[in-house]
Amino acid sequence: VKSNGKKDFGLYEPKMSEKIYKNFMMVSDFNRALRENEFVLHYQPRYHTGTNKIQCVEALIRWDHPESGPISPLDFIPLAEETGFIIPLGKWVMKEACRQNKAWQDQGLPPVRVAVNCSSKQLQQDDFITMIREVIGQTGLSPEWLEIEITESGLMRSEHTNIVKLRELRSMGIHISIDDFGTGYSSLNYLMQFDVHALKIDRRFVQQIPNAVIANTIISLCRSLGLNVIAEGVETIEQYEYLRRYGCDEVQGFLFGKPLPAKMFEMLLLESGAL
Ligand code: C2E
Ligand code: CA
Ligand code: CA
Ligand code: CA
Repeated sequence: VKSNGKKDFGLYEPKMSEKIYKNFMMVSDFNRALRENEFVLHYQPRYHTGTNKIQCVEALIRWDHPESGPISPLDFIPLAEETGFIIPLGKWVMKEACRQNKAWQDQGLPPVRVAVNCSSKQLQQDDFITMIREVIGQTGLSPEWLEIEITESGLMRSEHTNIVKLRELRSMGIHISIDDFGTGYSSLNYLMQFDVHALKIDRRFVQQIPNAVIANTIISLCRSLGLNVIAEGVETIEQYEYLRRYGCDEVQGFLFGKPLPAKMFEMLLLESGAL
């Protein structure tokens, strides 16, 4: 997707902006990339503040592009959503994350939940639940070891049927959390219909600590609703101690560990999963 590719597509270039051009190149690459196994998942631990143990691990996708090198999900997920590629890609992520977690369990590593990011486009598919049942059946991962993270803005865009879908996932034993909580400006009343297990405080509110009006509000909201609360993007000891003191259940961020390739995360788990 970098400059060397331009020669072959020189014809299009004068008519397209750099961004449209890049997108065009990327979309034509998507299916090949999936076929050629260029997508990989990295794993970032979420630690329980009570036990100091790894409670959960978030799967985060990367694209190992043969010419451009690693591409951040921020640079291709939005395009994958626009083009519908997120459907096969999201299924691949779900399957790979569940397969990997089952493999870790079969190796006798301390069991952890795996959290998979799902786009609202995926949730809106009629066969979303069927897809998940299929993956669980194929990989043999027990549903209680799977968590689905859906962004607040994703839920805002969704229809009533999605409330029903999330309830069904929950009844299967799958955990549900609302990602990037506090960024979507949706009404609390609306969000509470979704009946989730946990809210994830967005990184920008963690960064405001110790001036953390919003983080405090989310934590006390979770406490009064009996929900778990997770903080993402924890980078300093000050932030961590503040969050723990205020009753945040789980923490995740560069302070504890960056997203790691599966093999490296495995070693972390092997070291007993303790902080
Ligand atoms: P997210 O779900 O909010 O994930 C957290 C992002 O923050 C990750 O970026 C992670 O690497 C980064 N992060 C973690 N700890 C820290 C920290 O302490 N400081 C800072 N500055 N950043 C931290 P990443 O991996 O680049 O992913 C970006 C976004 O792409 C994710 O945001 C998520 O919305 C999306 N994404 C990633 N993987 C998937 C996927 O498999 N499916 C879908 N639909 N979206 C995905
Ligand atoms: Ca997430
Ligand atoms: Ca997040
Ligand atoms: Ca975020």
